[in-house]
Amino acid sequence: MKAVTWYGKHDVRVEEVPEPEVTEPTDAIVRVTLAAICGSDLHLYHDEIPGMLPGTVLGHEFVGVVESVGPAVRAFKKGDRVVGTFHIACGHCRACRRGDYHQCERGGVLGYGLAFGNLPGAQAELVRIPYADVNLRPIPAGLSDEQAIFAGDILTTAFGAVKNAGLRPGERCAVIGCGPVGIFAIQSAQVFGAAKTLAIDLIEKRLALAERLGAIPIDAGKSNPVSRVMAETGGEGADVVIEAVGGSQTLELAFDLVRGGGRISAVGVSAEETFAFPLMSSFTKAIHFHLGVANIHRDIDATLALVAAGRIDPTVIISHRLPLEEAPKGYRLFAERKATKVVLIAG
Ligand SMILES: [Zn+2]
Ligand SMILES: [Zn+2]
Repeated sequence: MKAVTWYGKHDVRVEEVPEPEVTEPTDAIVRVTLAAICGSDLHLYHDEIPGMLPGTVLGHEFVGVVESVGPAVRAFKKGDRVVGTFHIACGHCRACRRGDYHQCERGGVLGYGLAFGNLPGAQAELVRIPYADVNLRPIPAGLSDEQAIFAGDILTTAFGAVKNAGLRPGERCAVIGCGPVGIFAIQSAQVFGAAKTLAIDLIEKRLALAERLGAIPIDAGKSNPVSRVMAETGGEGADVVIEAVGGSQTLELAFDLVRGGGRISAVGVSAEETFAFPLMSSFTKAIHFHLGVANIHRDIDATLALVAAGRIDPTVIISHRLPLEEAPKGYRLFAERKATKVVLIAG
């Protein structure tokens, strides 16, 4: 089968690789119809994640049709349309029983190398999904592949970030970064009832999309985002700040934008090891700070329901639709920020 494989910095190829097979009774094989390139795949593209072996099949955002299942799979059968979660959970370890699926003791991330369970990815014609009953969801009737795909990762990541921040109706939410996750954070904040959503970015196209979705665009290259947010919040600062970029620079900005007693929820993936936490000001301002990888299994049913109900349109972020064979071009465009979101048509 054809698959997108990793060979090193800026070296992504499309190759013939062996087809995956059911190896555990709880496995399913999914014939991928649509895969996407995630912002976190760019960390692999830039060779920032240790534990990648040459030839690793990439990709963890996908939808498809179940091809075959192991004898212990109960919820799915051949022919079912499914969306998968980007992180794999077993469903019955201590962490999973607590509902912390993102901390599963047997978990991993598809297509993310040895450090994340060595699971071949989904930018391929077929993918093996361990613990299929736990990690797949049926696509609600009437939803297209493009509407469903992001529930398995970035839409639910953004939704979870807003949920973790405890956004209440009538609050003002600043979103740092209007890439795919930031755009979904804007849409999620509106679902949660934000009175005002302030969208901060440097790229005009992304800000224009944020504005079209009802956010107030703030171009951090043309004006000071701190004074703009203060002006929009009566000098108080945002009740909630969603950091959707990753790295110390935007984290620092989040602390400058949040009001006293407010909440920061950071979901941008940081390749940096450490961050100089603003200890004294966070103490006196009594800031709530939430950081971390999303718990997709906790929220995916809610995001799929919101999409099915027409409350969130996830297709607005798609800028490029390419055949799987053109994945290297997709990675390049995305890395150069010429694409907001690339989806790969696999079947
Ligand atoms: Zn991802
Ligand atoms: Zn588990």
